[in-house]
Amino acid sequence: MPNNLNQLIDKYNVSTPRYTSYPTVPCWNEAGFSTQGWIGQLKKNFYRDPTQGISIYIHLPFCESLCTYCGCNTRITKNHQVEEPYINALIQEWRLYRSILGNQALHIKEIHLGGGTPTFFAPENLRQLIAAVLEGNTLDENPSFSFEAHPANTSAAHLSMLYEVGFRRLSLGIQDFNPDVQRVINRKQTIEDVRGVMDQARSIGYTSINFDLIYGLPLQTLHSVFDTLMVALSMKPERISFYSYAHVPWIKPGQRYFTEQDLPVGKEKMDLYKLGKAMIVKAGYKEVGMDHYALPGDSLLLAAENGKLHRNFMGYTDNYTPLLIGLGVSSISDAWSAYAQNVKTVEEYYRLLNKEELPIMRGHLLSTDDEQSRRYILEMMCREKAILDKNDVYKNDKIHKRLLPLRADGLVRIKGDVVTATPKGKAFIRNVCTAFDEYLHHEETEASSVRFSQAV
Ligand code: SF4
Repeated sequence: MPNNLNQLIDKYNVSTPRYTSYPTVPCWNEAGFSTQGWIGQLKKNFYRDPTQGISIYIHLPFCESLCTYCGCNTRITKNHQVEEPYINALIQEWRLYRSILGNQALHIKEIHLGGGTPTFFAPENLRQLIAAVLEGNTLDENPSFSFEAHPANTSAAHLSMLYEVGFRRLSLGIQDFNPDVQRVINRKQTIEDVRGVMDQARSIGYTSINFDLIYGLPLQTLHSVFDTLMVALSMKPERISFYSYAHVPWIKPGQRYFTEQDLPVGKEKMDLYKLGKAMIVKAGYKEVGMDHYALPGDSLLLAAENGKLHRNFMGYTDNYTPLLIGLGVSSISDAWSAYAQNVKTVEEYYRLLNKEELPIMRGHLLSTDDEQSRRYILEMMCREKAILDKNDVYKNDKIHKRLLPLRADGLVRIKGDVVTATPKGKAFIRNVCTAFDEYLHHEETEASSVRFSQAV
């Protein structure tokens, strides 16, 4: 039995899903899925209560240059002629969904612009997009509109325009301030760039700014992470995401730009995590779920404290809706009882929309067993505690057996049907969740052989 942290890292630093969905995408049953089936599930869940509200994720895939660590679906180009056709296609896709849902006024709770680089698009193009999405719909009394901002190309015009149409939150992708790390990850933004965007956003009236920071990037050291966090914390963003670099070069060849020798791994990487987390917590932030931190009073933290935190394809949210519509290439939609993912290339996306078809490439209809396992995983990811269904003795027995080694290593406590992650187990929460993942333990599913990123 491992009795110190290094041994735990050696044991648990294995290929593990991040659980932004359950089942995870590689386990989706594509054979049992059809676009018509997806539409049926969407309508069923929408008409059950049309006032419950929807979230919208819009994927804007273009970037002017490739960051070598990138794990997103991107199209690298400096040609801004691509903007207009893509905006038109997004609006067309949205109109298809509106028509499927009877063209009645939708109750919009959340919009998130992700990418790619949303601020690759000119402010007027983004204005046209948001106007089309909002047209004929109603807004929640407390809507959450947010966007991902690249500090090097987010202008005052972007910030003003998005504020005018309702955006109050932005997430700045910083990752690391060290020039050597920035050079190798090909993402250059100065402290002044970030401070400039922060100051402009604050003076315009944005109320919530998140910093994305990553540990485990090539060439990072304890010194570089310390320096990055000192600067980041001095700017007092409301939220910080401090998450592990996912090294998956077999999926993202850009990550071969650096070698594995450049990467801090195992204990070295865990030390970066421990240092960063200690600094963030000492600065007054509280931990929210996995990898996220927020200042007291922040709505995400309040949701966590009130047991209202939720996790979906966009990450953690305090604005839960059972319907999430994803627009744009590679976006994933979630109708609670079904998932659907759009095609990944811009060309295929246009081709299907030109035929007035939803541009869907695959999906999954959840079984009752899937829904139960998802509940356990969501509870563990959001509340660090899962309450097993007493009546499902057979499944509970399997879960208990899988949890035994984690309990022996002090990562979970089990009391009857309640499984709780210990403070030590929080750093291994993804590993804990694998105990609830039926696909991962099924020899015949793809997930039992697929390579996810390492847990640590
Ligand atoms: S990390 Fe962001 S900005 Fe960089 S290539 Fe990927 S999507 Fe584009």
